[in-house]
Amino acid sequence: MTAFIMMREEDVLAALEGHPYILDDIAKPATEQIRKTRCPECAGVVAPMVDPKDPFDKNLPSFRYIGQCTACSCQFDPGSGVIRRPGNKSPILPAIGARLRD
Ligand SMILES: [Zn+2]
Repeated sequence: MTAFIMMREEDVLAALEGHPYILDDIAKPATEQIRKTRCPECAGVVAPMVDPKDPFDKNLPSFRYIGQCTACSCQFDPGSGVIRRPGNKSPILPAIGARLRD
């Protein structure tokens, strides 16, 4: 039986020194694409977040991202457009009502 021995943080950092960190470069196209999309429910600004139900991409050594609206918190899959969690529209309804009255 092999015992698991935790590496000290300074040993981990020493082992990684000199190696480029490439995971951000792999994830950047996906997160940039999500930032360019708009919320499917309120057309608000969208921020990428790691998918809590399926955090790892099966094809890339990076996280799997979904979009989350910064206005209504709607969560959706940017690839399929499937809404994972509907947004809360109560904070934005007064703004929509004001726009309709103008
Ligand atoms: Zn929204």
